[in-house]
Amino acid sequence: MPVGTQGTVKGLTIDQVASTGADMILGNTYHLRLRPGHETVRQLGGLHAMSGWDGPILTDSGGFQVFSLGALNSVTEQAATFRSHIDGEKVVLTPEHSIEIQEALGSDVAMVLDHVIALPASKPEVEDALARSIRWAARCREASTLDRQALFAIVQGGLDPELRRQCATELASMDFEGYAVGGLSVGETPEEMYAAAAVTTPHLPADKPRYLMGVGTPRDLLENIARGIDLFDCVMPTRNGRNGLAFTDKGPIKLRNAVHREDTQPLMEDCPCLACRHSRGYLRHLFIAKEMLGPTLLSHHNLTYYGRIMAEAREAIQQDRFSQFAAEKLAGWGHRPVPLA
Ligand SMILES: [Zn+2]
Repeated sequence: MPVGTQGTVKGLTIDQVASTGADMILGNTYHLRLRPGHETVRQLGGLHAMSGWDGPILTDSGGFQVFSLGALNSVTEQAATFRSHIDGEKVVLTPEHSIEIQEALGSDVAMVLDHVIALPASKPEVEDALARSIRWAARCREASTLDRQALFAIVQGGLDPELRRQCATELASMDFEGYAVGGLSVGETPEEMYAAAAVTTPHLPADKPRYLMGVGTPRDLLENIARGIDLFDCVMPTRNGRNGLAFTDKGPIKLRNAVHREDTQPLMEDCPCLACRHSRGYLRHLFIAKEMLGPTLLSHHNLTYYGRIMAEAREAIQQDRFSQFAAEKLAGWGHRPVPLA
């Protein structure tokens, strides 16, 4: 899923987002709650009508943003309390309020509010956040009133295999429509992240979507698909695109580098995106001249590239040649597959 933080995938029109091949996009509850406000979004017809996206939209619960923006004041059994990064407003985010916001936004998939902590953390801290996340998941389901909105639970447990198993098993018994692996991409190594996904997915229902939140690099996608993950979201393709970095089969290209000044090649020969109609030299010029088209074109390329990785992975799985496909892609990026434990 491309990330549409504030009701827009930054720098792209909604037709351009669709033309990357994306099926589903993500909206951020935290940001939309603060600006323009969830009641304003409701008045504007909801996130679909407002943004013009008629495909599925998933909204996160706000928990991760509160954590990652350092806005958190306190977490109690009742709520996560934070201060707005915009005007300092104190917001009490209970599980019930998170669902109320997501219903106002009108997303197709809502996420339960979870208690995210930084890694590494002590076992008692991880256990405490995990237990609270399970209680909050139950409160979210109780608060949910929209039949057409699916609710996904989030498995916590840090890097501890036993805690991951416990949390996944307990949430699976509560019968949510989908399951996310949360609390990763918060400072652990890629190998630690892959191991945490690998110990979680066997305890989740095979017939429901498994979503790894906030991940990741092209390598992370393939390594986690190998471990049973179906769905991802990440700002990497768009954020890096805005900063002049393009993902390709031969690894990332930094377009600001002088070596691209007179380069007539496209970023990739066979890429159908809007950027690859142009030379690397022209794209570099747009970034050096600070033209807004540069970030737009590279965001389009990177999202198209990520979408193609996922489409190719689906095809390879259907044809029972995923391991070979992943090994070839990873080799192009300078990596070998991490052995499955
Ligand atoms: Zn391209």
